[in-house]
Amino acid sequence: MSGDVTIEVHPEKCTGCLICQLCCSLIHHKTFNPSMARILVRLTDDSEIIFTDDCDKCGTCARFCVYGALEVKEVRD
Ligand code: SF4
Ligand code: SF4
Repeated sequence: MSGDVTIEVHPEKCTGCLICQLCCSLIHHKTFNPSMARILVRLTDDSEIIFTDDCDKCGTCARFCVYGALEVKEVRD
């Protein structure tokens, strides 16, 4: 667990592209399989972006979200 970042979520900006889920599954499971991601995007009238308990806060998903729905905040000592 890196624990170096926090991730702010802005569901109203999410387009449902699932790049975040693809990135997460790639780096942690070496496959492009959104269902294996540690982040879950649900696009509804009240969209939700949820991190599973396995999320290690590596920040990769947020760094590849080009729509600003995930925002990495570096944690400083
Ligand atoms: S959070 Fe970002 S990368 Fe993930 S589905 Fe939404 S817009 Fe795409
Ligand atoms: S921060 Fe969590 S959800 Fe995002 S890529 Fe890392 S492990 Fe996956």
